[in-house]
Amino acid sequence: MESLFVGGIVSLSTIDYPGHLATVIFFQGCPWRCGYCHNRHLQSISPEEALPWDDILNLLKIRQGFVEAAVFSGGEPLMQTCLVEAIRDVKDMGFKIGLHTSGAFPDRFARVLPFVDWVGFDIKHAFERYQDVTCVTNSGVLARESLDLLIASGVDFEVRMTLYEKVDVPAVVGVLKGISALGVKTVALQKCRDKNENIVEHPIFSDKLLLEDISKYFNNFSIRG
Ligand code: SF4
Repeated sequence: MESLFVGGIVSLSTIDYPGHLATVIFFQGCPWRCGYCHNRHLQSISPEEALPWDDILNLLKIRQGFVEAAVFSGGEPLMQTCLVEAIRDVKDMGFKIGLHTSGAFPDRFARVLPFVDWVGFDIKHAFERYQDVTCVTNSGVLARESLDLLIASGVDFEVRMTLYEKVDVPAVVGVLKGISALGVKTVALQKCRDKNENIVEHPIFSDKLLLEDISKYFNNFSIRG
């Protein structure tokens, strides 16, 4: 297997895979530069700081039978060129597989989807305005391609959207209506936090009627602080 660059691990999480106790593996590297990113230390790959993959497998072995799922997160886990092999290793150990992704690598996403049980998919903005958040041209095209793959795959998933100040209310509503029309059933809106971990309130959260209306587009709709 080619190198895997693991930036950290959380042994036990109750919030990263809905309804399951999970171990979360955070991979280094992300091609995007979102203004609100809380994992900036994982944006670049630092081989000298990466944790050995064998250590991660050993830790998972100890948790077999206790932890139900392993979540591949980041950074952007699909930065790892051999993520599919890593996922298969862990799936063969009996863990359910969760994946957190922003959809930056549709080709790699297509290769891993057959081995994934649940996806947490980040949406940043209207697809044609992604660059306002990610600072990268064509990022919206890649994200849209990945979302289409995910919907077509039949894999269980949730769309998450962090409500950043650069994404105005009409854009948020447009995104949510658009993904509802595509068949997305589960959405979580996440509050943005500043460098000091204080919530930066988005104006949409003070419009209760609008939120109630939006909630009707989805089978499952939640707001996370
Ligand atoms: S896609 Fe995620 S990890 Fe990458 S910069 Fe944006 S928030 Fe950070």
